[in-house]
Amino acid sequence: MNEKYDVIVIGAGAAGLMCSFEAGKRGKKVCLLEHSSKIAEKIRISGGGRCNFTNLFSTDSNFISNNKHFCKSAFSKYTQDDFIKLVKNHKIEFYEKKLGQLFCTKSAKDIIEMLITECKNQKVEIYINTKIENLAKKENSYLVKTDKGPISSSSIVIATGGLSIPKIGASDFGYKIAEKFNLKVTKLEPALVPLIFERDILDFCKSLAGVSLNASVSINKISFDEGLIFTHKGLSGPSILQISSYWNKNCAIKINLLPQQDINVLLKERRISTPKQILSNILSDYLPNKLALAICNKLQINKKIGDSSNKDIQKVSDFVNNWTITPSGTEGYKTAEVTLGGIDTKEISSSTMECKSHPGLYFIGEVLDVTGHLGGHNFQWAWSSGFVAGQNV
Ligand SMILES: Cc1cc2nc3c(=O)[nH]c(=O)nc-3n(C[C@H](O)[C@H](O)[C@H](O)COP(=O)(O)OP(=O)(O)OC[C@H]3O[C@@H](n4cnc5c(N)ncnc54)[C@H](O)[C@@H]3O)c2cc1C
Repeated sequence: MNEKYDVIVIGAGAAGLMCSFEAGKRGKKVCLLEHSSKIAEKIRISGGGRCNFTNLFSTDSNFISNNKHFCKSAFSKYTQDDFIKLVKNHKIEFYEKKLGQLFCTKSAKDIIEMLITECKNQKVEIYINTKIENLAKKENSYLVKTDKGPISSSSIVIATGGLSIPKIGASDFGYKIAEKFNLKVTKLEPALVPLIFERDILDFCKSLAGVSLNASVSINKISFDEGLIFTHKGLSGPSILQISSYWNKNCAIKINLLPQQDINVLLKERRISTPKQILSNILSDYLPNKLALAICNKLQINKKIGDSSNKDIQKVSDFVNNWTITPSGTEGYKTAEVTLGGIDTKEISSSTMECKSHPGLYFIGEVLDVTGHLGGHNFQWAWSSGFVAGQNV
């Protein structure tokens, strides 16, 4: 470890690696510090081990932030096409799974290797297992005290990510630094996270654990139409993870278990065409068998459709097309994919990622108050914000 660098980057995740080699390309002497024994662990576990590394249709509308416009500048400077070009240059095979989501064909490790190779090409010095004991500003430089010795630089980049999955290295380091430099941090919450329930809804979900279907899940006017899965604690799956980013305590969510069809109309038709059929059997033409039966048992209506009143049919259709339930909470940072909120974007220049009140101090990636939807958007933010800082440090 040398004593002086042009740039010190803290956090060897997606954003930190991108920023490091981009700064290196500009001839900067870069030191990248990581406190864990492995770098980019979140990339490794992402996308079920295949890393959904970007999204073809990523725009600012896929992000949640107190300032919706903040991410626009970085996205215009480094787009998904730029990252795809990099992936292609490294001959990494990938495919579109659905909805513009690009995944590695083989393994997320391909992306990690690519980023490490790019860093090596630019002679970025990477130090793992390195604890940062103190960070201070002295005149025009930043002094970092590590357990391997003191180092300094004129630019310092905080790329320590959010709070999710602490067991693979997540820490509150970035937020603590913000506090130290008197920067505002917005409210932090686990997001893209399964929802949990209590009492009868929990029992209902538990009895169906493992059953999955396509569902539309909404809070007010925000709605996601994707997969849903019942779990032993409540509900998960893409549509639930997406809506969790908009959920506040005590707020109800509406679930349409059959988004493409009006079950009320269908059941009334079946009352005429197949009057002897049992309600749960009819429902299982449209929903998984186990769910169809569980709904009828829960409502205590499981008779021949010909004997079902309009009121019975309405009860069933309210459940199927408009199931309104209130989660008791989320599974928390242990399973959340991201942290909602972060360093207030008012503190940061959107075109450089530099802190307005502390020249030379940069924040990139998830540690900022920019949170993407599920589907490769969070990595695209890490690449774009990392790139932008890399051009300016
Ligand atoms: C299970 C899971 C699956 C995901 N799948 C996807 C996906 O497929 N697509 C997608 O777009 N997003 C996905 N995400 C979200 C995505 O991983 C993150 O948004 C992204 O990694 C954020 O990048 P980052 O560089 O800001 O932070 P990170 O990638 O989290 O990197 C931060 C780094 O800083 C290090 N660090 C933390 N504290 C310190 C400290 N005090 N000192 C030194 N180093 C420190 C950490 O160990 C880590 O290496 C997933 C997240 C999870 C948890």
